[in-house]
Amino acid sequence: MIEVRGLTKAYGENVAVQDLSFSVREGETFGLLGPNGAGKTTTIRILACIIPPDSGKIVVNGYNVVEDPLLVKAGVGLLPERISLYERLTVMENLLFFARLYGVEEPALRIKELLNKLEIQDRADELVSKLSKGLKQRVSIVRALLHDPPVLLLDEPTSGLDPISAEVMRSLVRDLSTQGRTILLSSHNLWEVQQLCNRVAVINTRLLALGSVDELSEKFLGPPKVRLLLEEVRKEVLEAIQSVNSVITVERRDKEILIGVKDPEKAVPVISEAAIRAGGRILEVSVVRPGLEELFVRVLKDEMGQDSSGG
Ligand code: ATP
Repeated sequence: MIEVRGLTKAYGENVAVQDLSFSVREGETFGLLGPNGAGKTTTIRILACIIPPDSGKIVVNGYNVVEDPLLVKAGVGLLPERISLYERLTVMENLLFFARLYGVEEPALRIKELLNKLEIQDRADELVSKLSKGLKQRVSIVRALLHDPPVLLLDEPTSGLDPISAEVMRSLVRDLSTQGRTILLSSHNLWEVQQLCNRVAVINTRLLALGSVDELSEKFLGPPKVRLLLEEVRKEVLEAIQSVNSVITVERRDKEILIGVKDPEKAVPVISEAAIRAGGRILEVSVVRPGLEELFVRVLKDEMGQDSSGG
């Protein structure tokens, strides 16, 4: 549905995106994750045909962004990073204006339907300047959905929103995904990306990593771990744990044993039983998953490591 091959874009000397490739499948929610200045907005603006790429082949909904920008735009709804509504017009006036630009049939009806869906029908006659950031963001989403596009590009959809407005936005993204739309969203927030996205591309000008958050977590941080706290760690207990089939790594820290496994939920009873049979007395058992922020930092650090070694 979205195909990006070798995308490069520079602003003068400043290369914002370099040789970026990824694809988003139909109906998938895909996350673009990266630190400030990583090139997320630049990529989204190119996909939405707001700015052209310097090089690369970019196809959205079957159309090339350079050759057929109007056809691309017809199938894409964009939630820009900065809200782009007329502050001195009402919600309805704004939406009617954009609906006419898109050639939406029966615009008033369509707008009413979307305002109802987003539970902001009672704000239709308010000036945009009077709305909170969260409400403006909802109006922007209505704007993006006016022409019923199959592809949505959401640039940091929850940035600057309070926790409740952010949850409204996330729940909306889930609904839009259930309707079968293809969604590409950018975020700094790995937790959010994990909640919403099937797969994620971590970028920092270049592509650093691509996969589901679980896949990336396993690749960059190793397997999840089962943690056993014992009254006393004896050699026989360690050996018994090591001999369990699904165990990948065993690490001892004082009275604690950290055991790397593929499927921790399945491994917990087997490991506990092995430890008890070998005479171990278990005080606590838990599953330790690496923090998501740790994953983000690790992916970026790996990149810096590669840079410093010339790779
Ligand atoms: P953020 O998370 O801060 O929004 P981002 O990942 O969206 O960042 P971009 O906004 O795409 O990143 O910026 C990538 C790089 O390109 C940055 O170095 C930025 O300063 C630069 N840049 C972006 N837009 C322009 C512009 N219009 N003119 C010149 N440089 C720009």
